[in-house]
Amino acid sequence: MAVVAEAVESALGIAEDAPHVEHFDVLIVGAGLSGIGAACHLQKECPSKTFVILESRAAIGGTWDLFRYPGIRSDSDMFTLGYRFRPWRGPKTITDGWSILEYIRETARESGVDRKIRFGHRVARASWSSEAARWSVEASGADGRSVRFVCKFLYMCSGYYDYDRGHMPGWPGMNRFRGRVVHPQQWPENLNYAGRRIVVIGSGATAVTLVPALAESAEHVTMLQRSPTYIVSRPSEDKIANGLRRHLPAKLAYAMVRWKNVLLTMYFYTLSRRKPARMKNWILGMVRQELGPGYDVEKHFSPRYNPWDQRLCLVPDSDLFAAMRAGKVSIATDEIETFTETGLRLKSGEELAADIIITATGLNLKVLGGLELVVDGVRADMSRTLNYKGAMFSDIPNLASAFGYTNASWTLKADLTAGYVCRLLRYMDAHGYDCCTPRRRDPSIVEEPFVDFTSGYFQRAKAILPKQGSRRPWRLYQNYLLDIFTLRFGAVADGTIEFARLRDRRPAVRAALAGSPSAHFTADSPRS
Ligand SMILES: Cc1cc2nc3c(=O)[nH]c(=O)nc-3n(C[C@H](O)[C@H](O)[C@H](O)COP(=O)(O)OP(=O)(O)OC[C@H]3O[C@@H](n4cnc5c(N)ncnc54)[C@H](O)[C@@H]3O)c2cc1C
Repeated sequence: MAVVAEAVESALGIAEDAPHVEHFDVLIVGAGLSGIGAACHLQKECPSKTFVILESRAAIGGTWDLFRYPGIRSDSDMFTLGYRFRPWRGPKTITDGWSILEYIRETARESGVDRKIRFGHRVARASWSSEAARWSVEASGADGRSVRFVCKFLYMCSGYYDYDRGHMPGWPGMNRFRGRVVHPQQWPENLNYAGRRIVVIGSGATAVTLVPALAESAEHVTMLQRSPTYIVSRPSEDKIANGLRRHLPAKLAYAMVRWKNVLLTMYFYTLSRRKPARMKNWILGMVRQELGPGYDVEKHFSPRYNPWDQRLCLVPDSDLFAAMRAGKVSIATDEIETFTETGLRLKSGEELAADIIITATGLNLKVLGGLELVVDGVRADMSRTLNYKGAMFSDIPNLASAFGYTNASWTLKADLTAGYVCRLLRYMDAHGYDCCTPRRRDPSIVEEPFVDFTSGYFQRAKAILPKQGSRRPWRLYQNYLLDIFTLRFGAVADGTIEFARLRDRRPAVRAALAGSPSAHFTADSPRS
């Protein structure tokens, strides 16, 4: 094996005197919800594969470990945010961040994949060599030193946003403000907000989560929004689920509730697309019931866009509305003219006094965890790639990435992608392939934005995101049922993904990988 490793390293351009390099079949980047799920799939469905998880932080959980603001919780139900293979047993379906983190940790612990994680390893660069049919992956290790790994397949589970900082627009006069400005992504551990006047800038999922939680002890919280968002209240406990769980085995009850929630979410999404006016009236009607006839629902809760042009915001048990009814929370729909010493002046002339201003202004999207990708010496520009089945990218060999749904729980798609990657790896083994690359052969495919949401953070990142195509397998349908047929049951060799066997000139690599001299690869008929 040492001879093979040496030959592979030499083909990858790794110097002979370079520090020890570790070789794996699969290298997973990220130990969040997706990375832990991917590792569990791999361990069960491809038991002979060796793998490692590289995680830049010191903890499991990604999003659910990073965000520590008051009230942090899911905004989709746990029966679909949970893994397909591990029932969610918690009492609430809209649950707190800590319980989600515990669920991810327990999954890792019980399956043993926690032992495969290398914490403090930030992956910075990956270079693919067709000569070796391997990725050479560079990371900075826990001690800050550069470490290198070699893998046959690179699986990016690095999430979709920048962990270092959130999106923070600049406003005039910010440095005049004498109070504290806080971004929810960097919530100070000891922030004392009891009895304080707080303004939360934003009206997305983070703002509507934070506002009622802060209102429990703050003097008053104002949610300042430039434009409204659709807000829907759902019970935090699912009575049907809890009933079924009492009478049925856990796995069966979980599967039934999961399907119920998948189908209900799809139904409401489709209805929103087909009959937006009806859906809008229904949502605003519910808000009117919550806040009574005297409240200006049109101004503060009626967005300019249709339902599901952006993600709907879910509030559990009407907590936001209850805080508004209690007079602890108010909403201002206006724009900031300037920060002042004591708060904010709005374009309408209104002044909002504040001790603390929270900028719930969103995330900065990041593609593939900021990784620099090089394919055969050429730097890959991800914005010029087409996403294949929501899992791979055109002309990037042996690489998959987990990216969840925008109109349903993230995990539904991340789970399907992980299952697909295992099928792909097994297919390659069965046919003796070393390399798989989605190829864009059909010139009539039209490029479209990766995500068709109008949300600010997708619009800001349009230029760096990959594209989707106008037809399958390049189209992202954001539809769990269609994706089940494509990813779980569809042919792996679908005519678009190209498979190849390595043909390496050097005897050591050839012997190990059963190639023969001449070009690096022989591409096979895609439908073999
Ligand atoms: C506040 C908040 C609430 C959310 N609520 C929901 C919800 O209710 N429902 C839902 O479906 N979705 C929700 N989402 C989306 C959420 O991110 C996903 O549900 C899910 O947690 C994503 O998991 P992930 O593992 O793919 O990514 P992440 O959770 O982002 O984890 C990625 C991991 O990769 C690591 N990493 C990244 N780059 C590198 C690198 N270069 N090298 C090494 N490691 C790296 C990170 O440190 C991190 O640990 C929410 C997002 C946020 C921010």
